[in-house]
Amino acid sequence: MARFTCKCGEILSNTLVPNNVQLRVYSDEEWDNIIQTESIDPLSLPFPKNDIWRCYKCERIYVFDWESGAVIKTYVLDEQ
Ligand SMILES: [Zn+2]
Repeated sequence: MARFTCKCGEILSNTLVPNNVQLRVYSDEEWDNIIQTESIDPLSLPFPKNDIWRCYKCERIYVFDWESGAVIKTYVLDEQ
């Protein structure tokens, strides 16, 4: 459970379970490895490689390192 201030100023939190901030994103390779080696019981699924949060105000996407909790990538919605 954590809080994070987005660059737009919005305070994001994953304290509510479930929430719409924290995303469960697996690469196709990660998912393929999971479904080949694990049962499909949803409670037994491992966490994805990265912790990914989406700001519901500006839609920035933050990718966190699981171990350090540091932001390793930030994606901003492209204006067209
Ligand atoms: Zn934001």
